[in-house]
Amino acid sequence: MAQQEDVFKKIVSHAKEYGFVFPSSEIYDGLGAVYDYGQNGVELKNNIKRYWWDSMTMLHENIVGIDSAIFMHPTIWKASGHVDAFNDPLIDNKDSKKRYRADVLIEEEIAKFDDKIEKEVAKAKKRFGESFDEALFRETNPRIQEIVAKRDALHERFANAMNNNDLNELRQIIIDQEIVDPISGTRNWTDVRQFNLMFKTEMGSTADGAMGVYLRPETAQGIFVNYLNVQKTGRMRIPFGIAQIGKAFRNEIVARQFIFRMREFEQMEMQFFVRPGTELEWFKQWKETRLRWHKALGLGDQKYRYHDHEKLAHYANAATDIEFEMPFGFKEVEGIHSRTNFDLSQHEKFSGKNIKYFDPELNESYVPYVIETSIGVDRMFLSVLCSSYEEQPLENGETRVVLHLPAPLAPTKCAVMPLVRKDGLPEKAREIVNSLKFDFATRYDEKDSIGKRYRRQDAVGTPFCITVDHQTLEDNTVTLRERDSMEQTRVNIDDLNALIHDRVSINALLRKLS
Ligand code: ATP
Repeated sequence: MAQQEDVFKKIVSHAKEYGFVFPSSEIYDGLGAVYDYGQNGVELKNNIKRYWWDSMTMLHENIVGIDSAIFMHPTIWKASGHVDAFNDPLIDNKDSKKRYRADVLIEEEIAKFDDKIEKEVAKAKKRFGESFDEALFRETNPRIQEIVAKRDALHERFANAMNNNDLNELRQIIIDQEIVDPISGTRNWTDVRQFNLMFKTEMGSTADGAMGVYLRPETAQGIFVNYLNVQKTGRMRIPFGIAQIGKAFRNEIVARQFIFRMREFEQMEMQFFVRPGTELEWFKQWKETRLRWHKALGLGDQKYRYHDHEKLAHYANAATDIEFEMPFGFKEVEGIHSRTNFDLSQHEKFSGKNIKYFDPELNESYVPYVIETSIGVDRMFLSVLCSSYEEQPLENGETRVVLHLPAPLAPTKCAVMPLVRKDGLPEKAREIVNSLKFDFATRYDEKDSIGKRYRRQDAVGTPFCITVDHQTLEDNTVTLRERDSMEQTRVNIDDLNALIHDRVSINALLRKLS
């Protein structure tokens, strides 16, 4: 684990050193859980967004996009339940003065029981060797049964407290479990309080006339309040979907793990409107479709898992997370929720407008049910970055740092390098840049030795380097070096475009999906 934390630290500093992610307002010592994307980060982020957007809007005839405003009428957040219920329970330690999410402290305690179980299993495996029947051991070993019983009891008590919104009980669980603050090591806790995660600001010029508005905590509501506009003007028939990419804001209590939990972040959300009664079928389908989208990137199938929710949000009748194995464990990257007709019905109630859909096939009107797929751009970015980073030992005893980014997501697709800065090689290299730049993000690089230049491109994940040497001037060929294998092949300049295109285009990724 310590080793994994070490790797994560290296990834964070690599992200900064190579212009992927900078702390926000760094010269003023930063701003908590807010980050800026640098020259390479923005390209990687844009490519992730393009892959998602095109997969939604180009591969599905019945999905279209919108771009709704961040500010919305404040009653929207009353209707959606965010004003009353978008809360996290927080608790402070009086000695360290640090603030924690009470639910997270307890969840971590529950996870410790799971760790204990795994340790027992691992010990027994070692002891019994070949003949070990793991399933039987898990089912019958008294020590394991004891830990499982304790874990389940705690889980049940916790779930009840959360469902009943019982803050005293949450505190009592923390006391009874003897949970200590990891910093002060004490159990000197305050009461648990609810904390609303929405940022509020004022709209309007005078203090008396100003209206309190929120920065949206999710992009979904902008889709819900526009669904009939899109349906009518786009002549959409159910089932259909609306996709949106945009910023969301949450005043997270504890912001940790770099860009995993930010206060300003970006979401890619698609709301799919279906006939009542068909939603669970569509839920299943979107669960599979979304996992396919992730796996097509080739980061490793074993790095994904579903986490089905037992405790459902008030609006949902099914929910699952797609989790990805980050250096700090399996974590949610995307949520897929069957949101029933909750949001649309609430908007109908609060706005007083009829927002039913008329179904010409059934000849009846109803409020559609909704399946949501909601993925964080930044978490997606983090999962791509973490799984691409490698410190690779080379045959000559050196080590190179390479980002094995999926080629269609790489910020730069190819770098063109003259072997030396004379004899007409730079001019030839620039000629190649000028012919490729219309199709690919192409860079020209002539500084330092060729080896150093290759390393620089490896570190930002550039899939191809093209080297121009004296032979190029004679026979119109160049060296094409591939990032992962480091293999170099001699190819004709006229073939470059096709060779590169096959590997780096988003189309190639999209084709895997259909
Ligand atoms: P968590 O349990 O981690 O707080 P959530 O269940 O509240 O997340 P959703 O409301 O389902 O998250 O949001 C959908 C997606 O938006 C998440 O899967 C995640 O990728 C992203 N997301 C949510 N909160 C943040 C955040 N603070 N920073 C970055 N991404 C976020």
